[in-house]
Amino acid sequence: SAPVITIDGPSGTGKGTIAALLAERLGWHLLDSGALYRTLALAARRADVDLDDDAALGALAERIEVVPDGERVWLDGEDVSAPIRTAQAGADASRVAVHRSVRAALLDWQRAAARPPGLIADGRDMGSQVFPAAVLKVFLDASPEERAMRRYKQLKDKGLDANLPNLIQELRVRDARDRERSESPLQVPSGGVVVDSTELTIDEVLAQVVSLAQQ
Ligand code: C5P
Repeated sequence: SAPVITIDGPSGTGKGTIAALLAERLGWHLLDSGALYRTLALAARRADVDLDDDAALGALAERIEVVPDGERVWLDGEDVSAPIRTAQAGADASRVAVHRSVRAALLDWQRAAARPPGLIADGRDMGSQVFPAAVLKVFLDASPEERAMRRYKQLKDKGLDANLPNLIQELRVRDARDRERSESPLQVPSGGVVVDSTELTIDEVLAQVVSLAQQ
């Protein structure tokens, strides 16, 4: 099947940006797996499904049609690319993502995205669980303060209200949930290469990842 490059790491490291730029550079497909967890969380809210109910979430995931399409995602034929980007959807996504039945249901959606000529897959467990045979596994990291500051600037740039201490706190909660859960915790995958972006620009990170991809 098609070659896959995985880019995992915590939120706010620039993963999504780097994955999209790399996909464009190589002419490969792009999978934003976080968008799928966000979409399931949105569907759960809409259907009044309890975000802590493993079996109900698993059944919901079987019932809905979620189609990732590069930087967009479709839920039962509706483009939900915008509503899944709220802070609430992000927090909800990290809640539904702890469940075993949810992670199992999303495996097929994710693996279906690996089509020729190749796939760049961005997430938390792309290298460790979903695509263990990936040709390159990047783990992108950065300090929590730097990640919160980037998010802060993004929100300000969009003219939105932002509070740095709150952002740092939200990020800590999400990081802890991602790293400490028993199902596919966030970790450097075996064979993974760690790239620390704390002191690097987007262009510098991209250059490093492109050079790794060419090795
Ligand atoms: O990357 P993004 O912020 O969109 O992901 C939202 C949440 O979905 C993450 O905080 C994480 O809990 C979950 N997630 C996951 N596994 C992935 C991608 C995202 O558990 N592969």
